[in-house]
Amino acid sequence: MTTVSSIDSMVPVLGEPSTYPINPSLYECVEPQPWKVCPKLFARVQRKPFDSGLHYKTCEVRPDDKEYEFVRRVFEHSKPPGMVIKTVTLVHNPSLSTQFEATLKSMNSRANPPTWKNHPEANLRESVVQRWEMITRLFQPISVENSDNTRKDRLENIKILPLWHGTSQDVCNSICRTGFQFFGKHSFTDPTAQKGAFPSTDPGYFGSGVYFTSSARYAGMYNARFLILSWVSMLEPFPVVNDCPHPQRGSDMKMLEGKAAYQHYTAHYIPVTNTRPDFPGSMEYYPCAKGQTPNWDEFVLFDKAQALPRYIVEISPEGTAPPTLPISIDDVIPAAETAAGLNLMGICRNSECKKHGNEIVLQKGYGDFDIGKEASSFACPCCKKAIDVEDVTEIILEDCKYLLKSNDREGETQRRRNLTGQEKISIKNLAFLKITTEKKS
Ligand SMILES: [Zn+2]
Repeated sequence: MTTVSSIDSMVPVLGEPSTYPINPSLYECVEPQPWKVCPKLFARVQRKPFDSGLHYKTCEVRPDDKEYEFVRRVFEHSKPPGMVIKTVTLVHNPSLSTQFEATLKSMNSRANPPTWKNHPEANLRESVVQRWEMITRLFQPISVENSDNTRKDRLENIKILPLWHGTSQDVCNSICRTGFQFFGKHSFTDPTAQKGAFPSTDPGYFGSGVYFTSSARYAGMYNARFLILSWVSMLEPFPVVNDCPHPQRGSDMKMLEGKAAYQHYTAHYIPVTNTRPDFPGSMEYYPCAKGQTPNWDEFVLFDKAQALPRYIVEISPEGTAPPTLPISIDDVIPAAETAAGLNLMGICRNSECKKHGNEIVLQKGYGDFDIGKEASSFACPCCKKAIDVEDVTEIILEDCKYLLKSNDREGETQRRRNLTGQEKISIKNLAFLKITTEKKS
């Protein structure tokens, strides 16, 4: 990265693309809800099984998906030297998505007075805020569906950015499950913070929150092989600067270190610079003082619902990544197809089966069904091996007349319906469920 402008002289509109903290060409691939993926990719991830805790699904993003091009552009703009993308994996965690969108709406209407203007170094802080406006503008405006899905509300105050967090595979899995909750005190600037299964031991130079950066190079600096690209939301952040010569810690660091969010702010934003630029291998970065040139941009967030982990990017040294297959398994195996009447959905766990790990469907059609018996005698249509009752995921009724009788602790219920389209029944109290299906009248 060849940043040429110092923090206080940077013109916040046009300039050399390389001086931007984020690739300005991303503008071309962004939509009003950029955290969502296209219907084709979404359908693919929906067909995948949940993880064992039923929190999230993943699927490979392929070079011909438009999302791959987006990730590639974010990565290439400031990438770890000598490293290439090995795989891009989409993460779909429905509850994290819901929290993320709800937070966009609630934060958007929150008061956010720019009290930073009353701090010393107000001019320098203003340059930092302008730098933030310059990059967030690429992803504006954003909109979300209102509560009854009848229209989209445009959100003017809240801003979003695609930001990186470098980590290990284990931590990746935990983030996919529950969001960024293990990272309360992680800083990019302390190598000791990277050790251990959950590296979160330093006090956080710029606040005790979750740390992100716009640079894949910076995120991958401690040999991280897994970079998580998340959509991150914030109101205008508290601009963090330095007011004394490095390696001294300025007033802001003394004020923020190890602490929660400053005042009402939803984020701290810190363009940082190397404290020892003449010493190769130095990895200590402090906020910029007047006249200094930022190397990277750091963000500290304080609410895990502000970050939606979207892509896991596995990187590897150039020349070692296997060529990407021209077609993937998703193209060879059609989506599980349902038919009129009763359908059982399940997952085949036979590692030798072509459909291993994929959702499969058993079309039962019309008749009288004892669902408990059906589920316990369910065999994979592909390999004929038995499907464990635990792996029967749901029942789908489709275009039929049905009578459903269940008898469990809550008593007996009956439902009769002339169904157009599909109705999904989740798998609970199966043993007490009887369904009769017949052709629609
Ligand atoms: Zn099978």
